[in-house]
Amino acid sequence: MEFNDIKNNDLKYICNTYGRFNLALVKGKGSLLYDNEGKSYIDFGSGIAVNSFGVADTTWEEAVIKQVKTLSHCSNLYYSLPQIELAKMLMEKTGMAKVFFGNSGAEANEGAIKCARKYSSDKYSKDRNEIITLRNSFHGRTIATLAATGQDVFHKNFGPFPEGFKYGIANDLDSITNLINDKTCAIMIETIQGEGGILNLTNEFVKGIEELAIKNDLLLIVDEVQTGNGRTGYLYSYMYYGIKPNIVTTAKGLAGGLPLGAVMFDEKCSQVLSKGDHGSTFGGNPIACSGACSILSRIDDKLLASVIEKEKLIRDFFKDCPNVIEITGRGLMLGIKTPKVAGEVAAACIKEGLLVLTAKDKIRLLPALNIPTELLIKGLEILKKEIIK
Ligand SMILES: *Cc1c(COP(=O)(O)O)cnc(C)c1O
Repeated sequence: MEFNDIKNNDLKYICNTYGRFNLALVKGKGSLLYDNEGKSYIDFGSGIAVNSFGVADTTWEEAVIKQVKTLSHCSNLYYSLPQIELAKMLMEKTGMAKVFFGNSGAEANEGAIKCARKYSSDKYSKDRNEIITLRNSFHGRTIATLAATGQDVFHKNFGPFPEGFKYGIANDLDSITNLINDKTCAIMIETIQGEGGILNLTNEFVKGIEELAIKNDLLLIVDEVQTGNGRTGYLYSYMYYGIKPNIVTTAKGLAGGLPLGAVMFDEKCSQVLSKGDHGSTFGGNPIACSGACSILSRIDDKLLASVIEKEKLIRDFFKDCPNVIEITGRGLMLGIKTPKVAGEVAAACIKEGLLVLTAKDKIRLLPALNIPTELLIKGLEILKKEIIK
């Protein structure tokens, strides 16, 4: 199909919720993608931090195909081997106690919100139900996770929202302290605000939040949907801060390209959700879990060290580069601030064979964790030219 036919069919038949670039991708291998005309692109986006080991990674592909041929779906009315294997691996690697599987990041956060409210309702009263999140955060597109998202742009036209969300300010501990009262049950943060523009939370702030949570018996929820699964050079980004969250949510990169979300609970919350409290038809699907086992088993210390090394390479590459105002983020989740309109830089890069993302005013890089160094440098050279132009 010609590109214009593809585009016209999309516009005609698909709900027009996305601002798409003028590009149709049809195949790929690793960090190289191809459009419908056979032109290649170096991928610095990984399907928004989803394709952890790139596209059509051989090991992942074998694990997934094996499961497709064995048992593609089995309801949660029965025990499922891939789910158990993945759950065990996640719990052993994080020290968390139990996990619930869903299909997406928003759904994982819904599970976290339900758990936080039930924990407080069981132990205190059902009036203790407020969750503090941050301005500029992003927690998903369902009605409850939109309410949790501290950005007014997402709230227009969709009210009424569930009550019980208050918004503090990132890196301003007093703003959190001031919101805590006898109705507060949890604090929910992204350690690096992703959609909000790749903004890192400071050590002091994150440690301070943990202290506040412990002191007031509030559950600390860390949304690792984007930062998780090796993305920041740590298996989960909370590990960088040395904190112990009560609930960790993740999705995006977990299954390396298949829809899978997870809510992990520490010992204290592990019994809160019980029979009948929560569920999902597709959650923990065997194919998605097999893909995730293949990904997670390979996110080891060596890979994590290489992610940090690549971060250093990227930061060094842009050192003293004209127009680069600031680089934020950690590991292979980086935001580059320039005086240019980020979306225009991204569109110009496409013409030169490079895919980058944007986050607010920044150019956002989320390459595959195993992107080959030569390809990374080749892509950075294209990006640098467009930034300097
Ligand atoms: C992407 C994202 C979500 C939403 O995930 P979906 O899978 O799109 O529902 C939630 N939180 C954060 C931090 C994200 O980056």
